[in-house]
Amino acid sequence: MKYILNKDIALRSWQLVPFAYYKYGIRRAQKLSSDDFLLLITCDGKNEQDQNSEAIKHLSAHGLIHPASEGEELGSWQKVRFCDNRYMPGVNRSITGKCNYNCKHCFMAKDNAALMSEFTWEEMLSVLDDFDKCGIQTIELTGGEPFLPPHFMDLIREIARRRMDIDEILTNGAFITRDILREIKSLGFNPLVKISFDGLTHHDWMRGVSGAEQKALDAIDMCTSEGIRTGVQICIHKYNLDTLFETVKLMAEKGAEWIRVIRTSESPRWEENAPDACLSIEEYFDIAVDLLTKYAKAGFKATLVLWQVADYYPYANAYRLVPVDWSGNEEKDLSRPTCTGARGSMAIASDGSVAPCNQMSGFFAKHGYDLGNVKNGVQPLLQEGDYLKSILLPVSKVLENPVCSACKYRRYCLGGCRAIAGMLGEYMGPDLSKCEFFNKGYYQKIRRAFDEAGKECGREFVCTTVVDALEEKID
Ligand code: SF4
Ligand code: SF4
Repeated sequence: MKYILNKDIALRSWQLVPFAYYKYGIRRAQKLSSDDFLLLITCDGKNEQDQNSEAIKHLSAHGLIHPASEGEELGSWQKVRFCDNRYMPGVNRSITGKCNYNCKHCFMAKDNAALMSEFTWEEMLSVLDDFDKCGIQTIELTGGEPFLPPHFMDLIREIARRRMDIDEILTNGAFITRDILREIKSLGFNPLVKISFDGLTHHDWMRGVSGAEQKALDAIDMCTSEGIRTGVQICIHKYNLDTLFETVKLMAEKGAEWIRVIRTSESPRWEENAPDACLSIEEYFDIAVDLLTKYAKAGFKATLVLWQVADYYPYANAYRLVPVDWSGNEEKDLSRPTCTGARGSMAIASDGSVAPCNQMSGFFAKHGYDLGNVKNGVQPLLQEGDYLKSILLPVSKVLENPVCSACKYRRYCLGGCRAIAGMLGEYMGPDLSKCEFFNKGYYQKIRRAFDEAGKECGREFVCTTVVDALEEKID
């Protein structure tokens, strides 16, 4: 009998990960044995296979192949691709540095439009082909404002034509229409559309545009009513705390599936526009713990993500402590790349320069480091050089700094986040937000918050983070 790969399966091979496949819609590739990989290459609807072989039965049972119907052929996306570069599943692509809003905290605000760049249409397509060639499957689209360039929908169509996936779109929501959302869905995408919303009665002030608040609310309503996965990102600071809970409540009630609250950090533009507005790390952590308690008690369904504090998953009655980064396997933890997010997503700024993550692109530019540019080809960046070194930076190297090497929490913290370390101090130094989290016992505070909320609402919240022995270190 002839077999063929299921329509959502594509075979890929990279340096160090030679046998793998993507299942469409799942960001990370899955490893295969060499035998299964070689057999799958022959499942193209043309070769005869022994339907009684254990291997064929096993691959069918795992949803990788099916008996081919007459004339059925593999799509070009499915065919095996040998990529002469290291594995990289996704990119976070800023498709423009320009924006229609004038946010008080953002370098890409309209005021700075003259300093901003974006690729020509030809450059945009050429880089998309490069992603494809390197086996990069998933794209997060961001800006500036990604809906602003006139060719935004053409880009979405080109991504669909290559059968790549879009898993997130980050937007201020101003240009969202029902037609756009419907077309995105009809092309087979199911992205989480993350809309910025910085507080009821405060959003217009932060965004520098009157009417932005209503537009964002309308966009959220359009997304949820069109069945689009909807996220909301709320930047907090000293001036929008009075409506924080009301804002989060409204977003959950509107049907957002993901709500993220983040501290507005010390960027030059923010410090110039609102010099007294920044929350200290400790102030932010206390607000986060309080919000988690109230939110868990209220029984909302949306996932609540408190930047650098905790992720709370109401559907599972579970929470994760973000700063505790320990799996329990010391050898593996110390040799792994310092940030799994950076290792799984190439951050590409609007001018094409690359960084381990978007939060770091400003840091590298400010310090005159050049990690490379996708205009010179994507593949070389994933073969050798400073960009690759930056995303492979092992935890053990970070922990060599004198503060972390003497720290009793090092096994749990693993030195923290390099973007925050660079923002608050030294790139290779301690992440001062993590020091605050561990030294001031926020693990216990969060646990107590969930215990208290659980008693009041009659539920038991489970912490999914590996925390054995952490408690006695904090005591
Ligand atoms: S809407 Fe987003 S990209 Fe635009 S200025 Fe505001 S924060 Fe920056
Ligand atoms: S808590 Fe601070 S000093 Fe300790 S490992 Fe983490 S970042 Fe380093």
